[in-house]
Amino acid sequence: MSQSNEPRVFLVGAGPGAPGLLTLRALELLQAADLIVYDQLVPRRLLDFANPRAEMVCVRELPGNHPDKYPHIHTILQEGAKNGKRVVRLKGGDPLVFGRGGEEAEALRKAGVPYEIVPGVTAALAAAAFLEIPLTHRNYSSAVALITGHELPNKPGNKLDWQVLAKFPGTLAIYMGISRLPLIAEELLKHGLAPDTPAAVVERASTGEMRTVTATLSNIDLARRNAGLESPGLILIGECIQQRPASSWFERLPLCGEHVLVTRPRQQAEAMVRRLETLGAVPYLLSILDILPIEDVATIDHSLTQIRDGEWDWIVFTSAHAVRHLIQRLLATGRDLRDFGKVQFAAVGPKTEEALREFHLRSDVTPSARFSAEELSEQLVPRVRGKRVLLARAKEGRELLLETLSPIATVGEVIVYRQAANIENADSVLDALRRGEIRWVPLTSPNTARGILQKCDETILGRIHRGEIHLVAISSLTANAIREFGLPVAGIAEEASIEGLISCLAKLAASQRAVATDGVPTPSPTNGVDE
Ligand code: SAH
Repeated sequence: MSQSNEPRVFLVGAGPGAPGLLTLRALELLQAADLIVYDQLVPRRLLDFANPRAEMVCVRELPGNHPDKYPHIHTILQEGAKNGKRVVRLKGGDPLVFGRGGEEAEALRKAGVPYEIVPGVTAALAAAAFLEIPLTHRNYSSAVALITGHELPNKPGNKLDWQVLAKFPGTLAIYMGISRLPLIAEELLKHGLAPDTPAAVVERASTGEMRTVTATLSNIDLARRNAGLESPGLILIGECIQQRPASSWFERLPLCGEHVLVTRPRQQAEAMVRRLETLGAVPYLLSILDILPIEDVATIDHSLTQIRDGEWDWIVFTSAHAVRHLIQRLLATGRDLRDFGKVQFAAVGPKTEEALREFHLRSDVTPSARFSAEELSEQLVPRVRGKRVLLARAKEGRELLLETLSPIATVGEVIVYRQAANIENADSVLDALRRGEIRWVPLTSPNTARGILQKCDETILGRIHRGEIHLVAISSLTANAIREFGLPVAGIAEEASIEGLISCLAKLAASQRAVATDGVPTPSPTNGVDE
């Protein structure tokens, strides 16, 4: 056990599912954890934020079903702490709201293991915010009750008094109650709650997979079944629910509920996944290409020596990875940025320029509007005439710069990283495409496009042809790679960047929705829908 009173076990609320609703403290602890013990209800997505070296244990804790597992969980936590590990016990929502956090804390206290409790956003608060239902209201609700729906109204030892709850002067938020909704409604009606009292059921509040239905108390269960909403979900009952707008701020987000495939290398996917999530989408990650260092560094070292000896006037970086890999290798050899001396730098786009800035270096040439090798060559040609230019690039990169610059300058190349196919979870993603669950496939490079399209079978290709799956390209080059497969391109980003690609996606989704709701097609987005 730890010598001091410093906590070794952290009972942490993971919030309702959206990673943005993790607290800063929860994030810190996840990143520093050695052992993470999480409930089945904690969305796997949140574990992306954890220390990748942490040991992960999922306790299959279906709500209330396995009280016998508790001694076991207590032992895992205590043993972990005794072995000097930083143990995070991660629970959905808040640990002290129907989370048995109290029992776990008590067991730790008795065992003399120091701990900390980190609150989380509980389901009722998430449902309220994402549906825009005020839980309290000057005219309608002076209180909120968090209630378990797990106790059968007639069960011996039942502590809930439904007669009292029927008279509760505010909003009832019922957890774990979906399967008992008919009984719950019946009890409340029996004790005098008006049949036309507004009620709502919400599944997966705060995520793009949120589904919800509103009705009156007397027909809420029918409405829920018609909508196909299942456990786990939250039930809200009370006058406040009538305040719910036809669609909430979340439901109005451009990509709300859209399932989108992200085909970026794992190391770079997070920013795009986060952006999609904040627009309401459900991202799926398929890392077609991973960015890897070059194993044989001798050629890089040789180029670095040439750079130091002033043998190159310019270095052209064809991606942010090229910057990082070249400079990291320079630093790893024990030398530093002074080796660059008077060399000038060109960057293929703002991200590459930003990577240079991370090392306190400026780019002398960066194309502005459309980031592409074409524009870079155009800008470079007048400046590098007769000069010695080194291209730092990926093994699988394009030849364009080499071809256009070679006639007018002395051009050399150094391969500073490579891209490797990675299709670990390809099967589950391809299945989701086959089922028609994923409807949007933004493609970030010709290679990625080819990588994924080669794997699509007839079912998926059929869906693409019928316009059920939309391929959206980051640039016209990527669009051409799609067309090589004889497939339609749903849109091309106005600006060849991830942000540009996502806004193209959002515009396409919005115009589709307008068609679906009005039956009248709205003008297509202006950003080059070219099919
Ligand atoms: N400690 C959790 C509750 C655990 S009990 C919290 O504070 O939220 C599990 C129940 O929580 C589920 O049966 C469901 O009723 C509710 N729940 C949890 N997350 C939810 C979500 N994102 N949307 C709707 N209900 C949710």
